Amino acid sequence: MRIFLTFFICVCALFGCSQNHGEGVSAWLADDGKLKVLATTAMIDDLVEEIGKDRVSHTTLIIGEMDPHSYELVKGDDEKISLAQIVIGNGLNLEHGASLHYQLEQHPNVVFLGEEIKKRVPDQILSSGTEYDPHVWMDISLWAEGIESIVVALSDQDPENAMFYQKNGELLRQKMLKAHQKIKEDLRGIPQERRYLVTSHDAFHYFTRAYLVQDLEWEERCVAPEGIAPEGQLSSVDIQRVIEHLHRYHIEVVFPESNVSRDALKKITACCGHKVRICKQFLYGDAMGGSGSDADNYLGMLQHNARVLKEEWEK
Ligand SMILES: [Zn+2]
Repeated sequence: MRIFLTFFICVCALFGCSQNHGEGVSAWLADDGKLKVLATTAMIDDLVEEIGKDRVSHTTLIIGEMDPHSYELVKGDDEKISLAQIVIGNGLNLEHGASLHYQLEQHPNVVFLGEEIKKRVPDQILSSGTEYDPHVWMDISLWAEGIESIVVALSDQDPENAMFYQKNGELLRQKMLKAHQKIKEDLRGIPQERRYLVTSHDAFHYFTRAYLVQDLEWEERCVAPEGIAPEGQLSSVDIQRVIEHLHRYHIEVVFPESNVSRDALKKITACCGHKVRICKQFLYGDAMGGSGSDADNYLGMLQHNARVLKEEWEK
């Protein structure tokens, strides 16, 4: 995993990264008099963009396919955080890289969207052992619970535009709930016995609960070799656990994620003993797709995942 990430960082450094959601950093740093908002992930930045539109200057800290779980500050990040009038993070321990975590906590005007959602709908937040599952964006209706917190944060700093933010927030909520319903109908139309999701790491619990099951048995419907954060520390027990799951439910296809190494899935399919294929298309868990792809915005990312699953499960 570490080698994979190091390689990726080098490629980004050499060729520039195609996924820089929000404005270019130089445009964002320019003094244009607009409210400066820094989001840790593109999934947050996309909501800020929809709510703030041209009245705010927004950008993303963790760009491209970097892993938000382990992201540490790089040159220039300190400046971005200190210049931002509002910083919006995910929280629920997503951003647990020590340097980023420390700087976020120090900011006088930070909002953690996952924590805000937890306050609104505490019984909807999943956990694994003693840790909260931070991947709340994977259920669109749950992510929409964060809209109000962004509207309030923007309005507090820029009261003149409060009505504008409120109206955009409401339109966004409606758009998101419509997309949520469509994905739910599409995926629940697939026969139950095919709806077993095996991915690279545990980013799809909320997705599974929202879109793949009608009842409370979602835990049996999604499995991954790597846990809540993809640390690359795989044991033979992890591999065996997934292989047993593949056998038990006669699963024929597993799904790699865009920013996680495929090594674990390769090992699993090689050891499995019955014919299991690795899907040729990626799912998007912790990062959105590159600029121009069908997953280069938040709803597009979820719709991409639903489309790939439907195509594969209906083969
Ligand atoms: Zn993750």
